[in-house]
Amino acid sequence: MPELPEVETFKRYLDKTSLNQTIKSIKVIDDRVLDIDGLSLKELVVNNKFESSTRLGKYLLVNIGKKYLIFHFGMTGDLEYYNNKDHEPKYSKVIFHFNNGFNLTYISLRMFGRLDIAESIEEFVEKKNLGTDAYKMNFEEFKRALKRRTGIIKNVLLNQSFIAGIGNIYSDEILFKTKVHPKTKIDSLSESKTKELFTNIKEVLKVGIDKKGDLSTFPEYFLIPHRKKDDYCPICNSGIERIELSGRHGFYCPNCQKESI
Ligand SMILES: [Zn+2]
Repeated sequence: MPELPEVETFKRYLDKTSLNQTIKSIKVIDDRVLDIDGLSLKELVVNNKFESSTRLGKYLLVNIGKKYLIFHFGMTGDLEYYNNKDHEPKYSKVIFHFNNGFNLTYISLRMFGRLDIAESIEEFVEKKNLGTDAYKMNFEEFKRALKRRTGIIKNVLLNQSFIAGIGNIYSDEILFKTKVHPKTKIDSLSESKTKELFTNIKEVLKVGIDKKGDLSTFPEYFLIPHRKKDDYCPICNSGIERIELSGRHGFYCPNCQKESI
């Protein structure tokens, strides 16, 4: 599932290709990806422009006039900018046709991605109960938010109302780099571990953004290339273990990330 670095990559792609161009028309191929009715979407975008964009957690918010078009990429979402002369990309669900003969298509292999409209960023944050964006959060905000939480660290990192943008894969990497077991209770983290955790959230997300969200290009010393059964820790060579938490499968090194209980 696209996490913060992938969505940041979509944001930069949209900014580079599609901002400030008049949208001539829109084609909805499958309205199951719409959280709004097709007519409202058409009214919002046709004869208007994508003026600017903001990423918040795993969501991309595109400003059009006084409203926002919200892109969520679900499990398999993608964006592609292409010329009229080219073939329509496979699995296109909604296509924005620009005046310049190019198009932006919202692609989703399955139906989990969603397009929505919000009146304001504040309204959207409230509706989704979103916490501060993981890449923009400062240490004081992080500490304050942590104080209000209980539970185990992996679940807290995945909780979008605490910190927005981190999913299963990046949370594993952040915990691996911090040498913390995924089941560690957050109230047992020392001040220095909390600081280290915060630093590693930023660092791991930065690597992800620099790699344009492409997990296959992560260096060998990260956990990401080793997140599979029968693989070995790149630091200590112990066997990587799989853990199930709240229905998600995580991976960790039982030697580098010892349980502190
Ligand atoms: Zn290890």
